[in-house]
Amino acid sequence: AKADGRGTFRFFKPEMDERMQARRGLEIDLRKALALKEFELVYQPQTRIEGDTVVGFEALLRWRHPDRGLVSPADFIPLAEEIGLITPIGEWVLRTACREAALWPDSITIAVNLSAVQFRGSRLLDTVTSALAGSGLAAARLELEITEGALLEDTDAVLAVLNGLRELGVRVSMDDFGTGYSSLSYLQKFPFDKIKIDQSFVRSMASDRDSAAIIRAVTSLGSSFGMTTIAEGVETPEQLARIRAEGCTEAQGYLISRPLTPEAARAFIAARVA
Ligand code: C2E
Ligand code: CA
Ligand code: CA
Ligand code: CA
Repeated sequence: AKADGRGTFRFFKPEMDERMQARRGLEIDLRKALALKEFELVYQPQTRIEGDTVVGFEALLRWRHPDRGLVSPADFIPLAEEIGLITPIGEWVLRTACREAALWPDSITIAVNLSAVQFRGSRLLDTVTSALAGSGLAAARLELEITEGALLEDTDAVLAVLNGLRELGVRVSMDDFGTGYSSLSYLQKFPFDKIKIDQSFVRSMASDRDSAAIIRAVTSLGSSFGMTTIAEGVETPEQLARIRAEGCTEAQGYLISRPLTPEAARAFIAARVA
C-alpha cells in the first residue's frame, strides 16, 4: 500500500493489508495444491430412512496443507472460484469420485458438488462424459449437486445444461434447498431428481413449527414432481424421526456417519451392504 500524497493511503488500513496478504498467501498455495496432490476426498453416507439402507455417498473435498493443516472447503472454494481454479479442481474431484465409486457395489450412488462456475462453464458435459468413460462408472450412479446460485442466470441456458446432463443419464440434485430466494419456483421450472433440504431446517424444526411445515410442503411437492427428498445435517435420532414424519425419504448427517476416508467408506459398505 502506498500513499500518493493526497490521503489515498487511508483506504489501505494495515489490517486490510494483512488480510490481503493472507489471501495472497492462500492463493499462491492453492495454485500449487493440485500438482502437489494436497487434495483428498472424503465420502459421507446417505441412507434410505425406511430400512436404514445405504443408498449412496456424497464426495466432500479436503485440502491437506503442509503447514496450515486441513483447510475447510468453505475457506478455499470461494477463492478457487474467484481465481478460476475451481474448474481444474472440480474436474479432479469428478474423476476421483467416479473412480472410487466404480469400486463400490452397483446399488451405491456417488454425489459430487458442482460449483456455479463449473455449471456455467462450457466444459461441463465433456468433463462429465470423460470422467464416466475414464472410470467405467454407469452414468445413472452419478449425481451432481448444484445450489440455487447456479440457477440465477438465464433459464434457457440452465435448462440446456440440465437436459444435457440428463441425456447423459446423470442425475441432478438441488443442494441447500430453502436457503435461496425462489426455491419453490425452481422446482417447477427445472428437472431435478432430488432435493437436498438444507441442514438449517433440520436443526430448527424442533423449535420452529414453520421449519417443519416447510419440510412437509417440500417433500410433498417434490414427490408430486417425482423427486426424492433427502435431509442434510441429521445429528440426532429425534431429528431423524421428525424428518421421516414430514415425509423425507433419505437422510445424511453425523447420526449416520461423519464423512469417511475412501478406505473407511469401503469398510462401511462392506459392513452395511450385502
Ligand atoms: P454441502 O454440499 O452442503 O455439504 C454438506 C456439509 O455439511 C459438509 O461440510 C459436511 O461435512 C457437513 N455435514 C454433514 N453432516 C453434518 C451434520 O450432521 N452436522 C453438521 N453440522 N455438518 C454436517 P464440508 O465438507 O465442510 O463442506 C462444506 C461445503 O463446501 C459443502 O456444503 C459444499 O458446498 C462445499 N464443497 C465441498 N466439497 C466440494 C467440492 O468437491 N466441490 C465444490 N464445488 N464444493 C464443495
Ligand atoms: Ca452438497
Ligand atoms: Ca448441502
Ligand atoms: Ca451448504
